[in-house]
Amino acid sequence: MFRMRTVFVALAAVAAMGLVGCSKARGPADVDGARIQAADKEPGNWMSNGRTYDEQRFSPLTKINDTNAGQLGLAWSYDLDTNRGQEATPIVVDGVMYVSTAWSKVKAFDAATGALLWAYDPQVPGEWGWKACCDVVNRGVAVWKGRVYVGTIDGRLVALDAKTGKPVFDVSTIDKTKSMSITGAPRIIKGLVLIGMAGGEYGVRGFISAYDAQTGALKWRFYTVPGDPSKPFENKAMEMAAKTWRGEWWKWGGGGTVWDAIVYDPALDLIYFGTDNGDPWNKKLRSPGVSDDLFLTSILAVKADTGEYVWHFQVNPGDEWDYSAVQPMILADISIGGAPRKVLMQAPKNGFFYVLDRTNGKLISAKAITPMNWATGIDANGRPIENPQSRYTLTGKPFWGTPGPAGAHAWNPMAFSPKTGLVYIPVQETIFPYVPFKDFEKKPMGFNIGVDLAGDAGAPDIKAIGTAGNKGYLLAWNPATQTQAWRVDLPGPANGGVLATAGNLVVQGDVIGNFAAYRADSGAKLWSMPVQGAVMAAPVTYEVKGDQYIAVLSGFGGATGLSAPDNGMGIRNVSRVLVFKLGGAAKLSERPVVAKTLAPPPLTATPQDIAAGSELYGRYCAVCHAAGAASTGIVPDLRYSDALKDDSFFDIVLGGALKANGMASWSAVLDKPHAELIRGYLISRAHDRQAELAKAAK
Ligand code: CA
Repeated sequence: MFRMRTVFVALAAVAAMGLVGCSKARGPADVDGARIQAADKEPGNWMSNGRTYDEQRFSPLTKINDTNAGQLGLAWSYDLDTNRGQEATPIVVDGVMYVSTAWSKVKAFDAATGALLWAYDPQVPGEWGWKACCDVVNRGVAVWKGRVYVGTIDGRLVALDAKTGKPVFDVSTIDKTKSMSITGAPRIIKGLVLIGMAGGEYGVRGFISAYDAQTGALKWRFYTVPGDPSKPFENKAMEMAAKTWRGEWWKWGGGGTVWDAIVYDPALDLIYFGTDNGDPWNKKLRSPGVSDDLFLTSILAVKADTGEYVWHFQVNPGDEWDYSAVQPMILADISIGGAPRKVLMQAPKNGFFYVLDRTNGKLISAKAITPMNWATGIDANGRPIENPQSRYTLTGKPFWGTPGPAGAHAWNPMAFSPKTGLVYIPVQETIFPYVPFKDFEKKPMGFNIGVDLAGDAGAPDIKAIGTAGNKGYLLAWNPATQTQAWRVDLPGPANGGVLATAGNLVVQGDVIGNFAAYRADSGAKLWSMPVQGAVMAAPVTYEVKGDQYIAVLSGFGGATGLSAPDNGMGIRNVSRVLVFKLGGAAKLSERPVVAKTLAPPPLTATPQDIAAGSELYGRYCAVCHAAGAASTGIVPDLRYSDALKDDSFFDIVLGGALKANGMASWSAVLDKPHAELIRGYLISRAHDRQAELAKAAK
């Protein structure tokens, strides 16, 4: 009896401790490294960008599963105050959702009801917008010990009080004299906020920084390419890297920006991140001849506490195609050929899927996941076996490449399910004409890539390109065998990021505005719902008071959304937060109808002037306003612009009248005669559009 009683008392004490543990009031976003490392113990939360430090984007939640996904419906939605591209992964902690949107704004919601708790706007100057190559997007916030951290388009790291949304600190992380920006999500490990930067099309030197989460003080910075070799190198890694460059790269910047993936292995205490293209892309300008140009387009491992170099793996030595290796990475422990391996997996832009040994950076395997014409394979050392024609700076001839700079896989996150052993990748097929500039001059504004966006590439070699271009698919890939398990074809490129769950689900939105759930093991479609706008971002799942939810941001934009001409696929958006649950019966608000009048002034420009205007438009305007001025409407479709009629056109283009909206003054590179040529070209495009519409109406 005595013994029983002791056991009972002991159990009661444990139960009481448990109760105390449960009822202990946690403040908002009370997250630390121990909690993130033990994320599987509280699967109802999504506390870090990829849920866990290894960023598998796999949730153990199973209430929504392959037997009931057909009952999914809208739980709540929130219409955002911007219609620019939405790329963020929401964070959900203890019933509160924290999400960043275009223009680096942050909002907190009651995750169950959608009630807005607070909103923060960092007031990014609109005219900074052009410095972000691929829209004023943001890929997410990080949370840590009661604070919410966001990187801003104008290069600041801002810490917010998670309860109020009020800034605690606001530090600049960049050289403001350079065209740098931040679009990536911070990650926080060991009290250090890791944040990268973007700007590799504008003449910059890439780096990743670590800031003290408490104070905002810079703790370390790792440059990814060497600076001026006549000055002392920052570290041994830079000294080593400098030997792989030629010419006077530092005068251009060099590139190697770190604008997306950052993952962490707590056991090895290593941080992994990727780097972007050479800056300028044109290698003849940047580092002439044959050289590797470290650490461009590389995956790097550094020590967490100091940022000290440990290893690198370069996917594209001497890059000249913008084949970034900044794409999302996943860490996993998988069995390959019967042996357990600690791997790092990435599908960079170049079209191969890489499996590396993350303890040492050695290649385990690499296999093509899309058609490609720039290489025929990867050799045993991890170097691509290149098609010599792809080296347009050596041949001096244009090269139609597939993939193009939009990549076979862009930033849209992939997921890995330890249950199926499969990686789920949003793959796209893209092509691009790499036309080397004849006489390139560095300009104070716009793309400085040394590739002529308005150049004549001739017709693409259809035999070489094959079927590539303008399509995408959700690919389930076995990383152990480098083989396809299944694939779902999608109507266009630029489809959404992916979530995998223990409920045998893979969840993804697409570019034509559907949000869908598939069986993770077979790819069979279980559920789909039209959501009125393209979904590019990745979903998350969480639980509040016993209900499981799936959340995602909708909103087209990004590189493809802005620069590709409107083909009706990337449907225009109302940018939203969308949240689903079983039996959800909420309705989306009506999609606003945008009335547009096409009433261009008479066409007076000569064909020669229109051609000259087309060239200028291609170089300076098309990156945001789309090829042929046929914009998807995320930024104004200039064929419909009222300003074509009169001098207000010059007030906008040269005077910066709409800078608050993101349209900076281009007077640093364009004068009034230039602007008049562009206006003539746009008027001609408006007349083309009129003719198109008249023909369609017949
Ligand atoms: Ca790039």
